[in-house]
Amino acid sequence: MNSSWTLLCLGLIAFSFVFIQPVPVHNNFDQNDSVSIPTQPMLQTPAQEIGDNRSFWALNLDTMEHYVADAYLLAIGNHCYIYIEDLVISIIGEEEANARAETYRDEFDANIYPRVIDLAGDPDGTLGDIDGDPRIYILIAEHRQSYYRQSNEGAGEYSNMCEMVYICYRTSNPVRTIVHEFHHLIWFNYEFDEIHFVLEGAAEYAKYHSGYLPANNMTDWVQDFLDDIDDSFIYFEVEAQDYGVCYLFAFYLAEQYGVQFLRDMVQHGDDGAVGLETALEAAGYNISFNELYLDWMTSLTIDEQGFADDRYCLQDMDATIQDYTTLESLPYQDDSLSLYCYGSKVYQLTSPPDSFSVEMSQPANGVAGLSVAFRDAQGWHVQQMQKEGLAILDVTGESIDTAHVIVSYLFAETPAADIDFGSGPRETVQVLMHEINETTDTPTPGPSNTDQALLIIAVSIPITATIIVFVLLLLRRKSEI
Ligand SMILES: [Zn+2]
Repeated sequence: MNSSWTLLCLGLIAFSFVFIQPVPVHNNFDQNDSVSIPTQPMLQTPAQEIGDNRSFWALNLDTMEHYVADAYLLAIGNHCYIYIEDLVISIIGEEEANARAETYRDEFDANIYPRVIDLAGDPDGTLGDIDGDPRIYILIAEHRQSYYRQSNEGAGEYSNMCEMVYICYRTSNPVRTIVHEFHHLIWFNYEFDEIHFVLEGAAEYAKYHSGYLPANNMTDWVQDFLDDIDDSFIYFEVEAQDYGVCYLFAFYLAEQYGVQFLRDMVQHGDDGAVGLETALEAAGYNISFNELYLDWMTSLTIDEQGFADDRYCLQDMDATIQDYTTLESLPYQDDSLSLYCYGSKVYQLTSPPDSFSVEMSQPANGVAGLSVAFRDAQGWHVQQMQKEGLAILDVTGESIDTAHVIVSYLFAETPAADIDFGSGPRETVQVLMHEINETTDTPTPGPSNTDQALLIIAVSIPITATIIVFVLLLLRRKSEI
């Protein structure tokens, strides 16, 4: 990667932080789980008192430069130290700083610590406890990003030699952000190379598991995705949309496969999409990542309970994709639909015929993924297809009153475990939807079906009877005027 490209990437990431607070976890140990971390030295933590001053290494994620943050210890809980940076105290005042520190301490001790541990496991994990003090350091900092750095939990040039999270004092909801970063802390005490669509989704789910979300159970960024789904799910760009979609996925996993499945993922060795597949298999489920993706996107499109074992809904959240194209009639054709890999386009057919066909060309370096959900006189139905080459899905129902078509660009193989940051590949496909006609005859205005039947009978019987039938037809026509 050349330096100008690096600068561009950093610039884009920095720009995105204007809108959001949590940032990806920083893993400065080896990126490979198979490299064992040596047993950590157990340090003797000196007793700390309210009012103590301490300098911490911190990281400016805009410039990737380390700096020293001076902070004061303003609250001590059973499970935490709350330090607030002196810059923050000078901005918000001592009284406000003390009040906030006590609030965070109380929330952490009473709720955050037990709930996040319930979801993720022991904060010492397999990494151990670097300072021999079970308390977590929460540094409320002036810098505008909140994050976790695994390197603090080992010896190193910029290590604080303690388990800690950094929380921006301006973040819209510091308590929820502490939940998110503390979840990262625990996960990274177990494994060191998980990728972000899994990590961030689970950390966002921890906010729900801890009871800090509003009644609709949505995080701040769910709507960002529902309003604009043109994004790769598996590639993480550190945008609001990415956090929203990852949370929706973790939420779906927990509802479909149990919260225990999310717990198991923390310690599951395989990573990313491959890791999800092997973890599902270990839990007794026979489903591929591609099938899971199509099921989940279908649930976000229709959110319908009561059929197919509730596979196509979120039971505890009303979240449906608002970014779709309405088609009032067929045929429809788009010769240049652009899709990100593991990105989708949704169509709603408001007056679908009872028999129609959906065609999607093969995206370069991938496969076409189709999911059609429709409701007819018998209820809801879902048909899906993954295809190398042209995918053609024929749909037939009885008085179909609504249909949703989801077209997706998938990989033929399960996405590699090292796919992480970036926007991902984008390809253009052709999409065609058209009615399937039962006969090739073009319908023309003419006698009603009953009349046609009578005429057919008429030509097959003797002439006298034919005359009688025509008289009957004439009488009938008259009575209808
Ligand atoms: Zn995060």
